[in-house]
Amino acid sequence: MNAKDLRRLSTSALERLRDAIESELLDRVSREAREQEERDARTVVAVRYVQEHIRCGKPSCHCATGSAGHGPYWYRYETMGSGKVRKRYEGKQKPKGA
Ligand SMILES: [Zn+2]
Repeated sequence: MNAKDLRRLSTSALERLRDAIESELLDRVSREAREQEERDARTVVAVRYVQEHIRCGKPSCHCATGSAGHGPYWYRYETMGSGKVRKRYEGKQKPKGA
């Protein structure tokens, strides 16, 4: 549709078209903002590697009586844009990037 086509439309048809365009644009802008927000929330914004000792939970184990526990094992902590933190076991060896 070009300017010549628009001139052929009646005023009321043109007004309806304008309203439809405004409504469509508002929908798109809010949908795009929401999608961007969702992408940001899923993006990893910080990573850190930490060594931790763990307790296995067996009452008879040495770790139950106040020793350091098993390990140390490496864990990767990822902070997401949403603020949520994910923790992943990395093993006994120092991971790349730690
Ligand atoms: Zn134990």
